Order: sequence, then C-alpha cells, then structure tokens
Amino acid sequence: MAQGGDAMGTIYLNGYFMPAEQAKIPVMDRGFLFGDGVYEVIPVFGGFCFRLAEHLERLDYSLREARITTSMSHAQWQQIFERLIELHGGGDQSLYLQITRGVCAEREQRFSPDGKPTIFAMSRPRGAARVLPDAVACITLEDIRWLRCDIKTTSLLGNVLMSQMAVEAGADEAILTRDGLVWEGASSNVFVVVGEVLYTAPKGRYILGGITRDLVVELARQNGVDCREQALPLHAVAGADEIWLSSSTRDLTPVTQLNGRPVGRGAPGPMLQSVWGWYRNFRQQLMR
Ligand code: PMP
Repeated sequence: MAQGGDAMGTIYLNGYFMPAEQAKIPVMDRGFLFGDGVYEVIPVFGGFCFRLAEHLERLDYSLREARITTSMSHAQWQQIFERLIELHGGGDQSLYLQITRGVCAEREQRFSPDGKPTIFAMSRPRGAARVLPDAVACITLEDIRWLRCDIKTTSLLGNVLMSQMAVEAGADEAILTRDGLVWEGASSNVFVVVGEVLYTAPKGRYILGGITRDLVVELARQNGVDCREQALPLHAVAGADEIWLSSSTRDLTPVTQLNGRPVGRGAPGPMLQSVWGWYRNFRQQLMR
C-alpha cells in the first residue's frame, strides 16, 4: 500500500493510504453525480472504535438496501480504521467511511449490478470529552426528506437544507415532524422526557436508527427507566420536561430552547444527567 505526506491528512481511497490532497475521484463517480452512496461515522475513544460491530452491521444494512456490493469483510474494515487511527496519533477521533456505487460510463440512473464501488475513509480529531454537553436551541420543521431515512445515504440534500434553515433561524438543529409527530433531528435522534417516561421515535423508514440512540435506550432500560419507542405529537414535545439530541458526533446534547421557548425549566434536566452518567461510565469501562 502506498503511503506518504503528512500523516494527519492521510486518507484511504480504494486500497491505498495517501495524502488527502493527492486523492482524486473521477467526475463520473455516481457518488458525485447522484449522491449514490452510503456512509458511516464511527467515534473513536482512547484509540478504539466505539460500538464498531453495531456500526458495521448498520453499514451492511445500508449497503444491502442500496444494493451496493463490496468484497470487504468486517476484519478488513477494522484494519483500515486501525491504520487511520494510528496515523492520526490515537486518542479521540471521528472516522468517516463512504462507499459509492463507483464510476459509470454514461450518466444514467440505472446501474450495472457488477460495478466496482469507490471506497473512501478519513479520520478527524474529536473535541475533548465534556463533563456535560453544551445545551442547544432547536427549531421544528416539517421533514422534507424521502421515505427511506433508515438508509445512511450520502444523498443528504434534504438534511443539508433543513440544517441550514436551523442555523439561519439562530438554532443548532432542526427537529423534524411528519403527520404532526416528532421523529428525529436533521443529523441526530431525539429523546423526550415527560414526567418519569423517556420517549424516542421507533425505528423504521422515518428515522436513521442511531447507534447512540440504541445505546441510550439500552442503558436507560437497564437502569430501570421506563423508555418507550413511540413518536410523540409536536404539542407534547413542546410541553415536555426535557428534550435531548443523540448522535455519534454530539453524544447526548440537551435542548433547552425549542422554537424560541424554554424547554422545561430551560436547563439540562435530571434524567439527562443520569443517562449521561451511565453513558460515560459505559464508555470508560470499555477503555479500561
Ligand atoms: N439521524 C440522522 C438523520 C443522522 O444523520 C444521525 C447521525 N449523524 C443520527 C440520527 C444519529 O446516528 P448515530 O447515533 O449513529 O450517529
């Protein structure tokens, strides 16, 4: 495998590690032409991929549903990730893996099932671990995406536009509704606390099944919390005691303002503090 240049900017492309500035993708790549690809973002703590098996299972699901085939085994993915982590000096990182359907001869939507996928991976440093994540403000928007949000695809125009609308409204994230119910965020899952009950939307075609979401559900239940996978009406969410976002990049983030109004008491709530504690302990035990 070829290698060279500044290790911090080293990426993986189609079998080779190389400096990012030397990496080239043909203009006829279907990822470029159609957003015809899938991806994963895997957090790295203390040099180890967090929940790697779960991330690779979701990757297999996205590939299968998108009908993209690769010859890569889980062990081979892991080898690439370990090399990238090492090249970037270990510690806390965020790995990105993208697989597109590869290069086509003509710009046609239909595809040949025996195409060769393009495989790209990179790693970026992650912010320092926090005592409690910073609180954010959110707005709600009607979800404009397609009906296969369960596939982690690089076709993200809907998410991109809604994220931008949130920023332009002075918020950090858009919380998305369909049929009057709250499903997820533009780049996160959503948890809602009403009284003693913790709610998050059920998995299905309206949301991406977050790896962080699944872990939070698991830890909450293990610790005796009544956690229900149920989408709540927007008015119930607006009047909730707590709202949080979850994602590999944001961990658990308290939402203290929704559409310009305070959520609960306008500060991170007690249920978040408990779950965040369990979440951090779980992570630390893995690193020991
Ligand atoms: N939903 C959407 C739309 C996302 O883009 C993401 C990830 N950024 C999530 C949920 C959270 O998934 P995970 O916990 O696996 O990062």
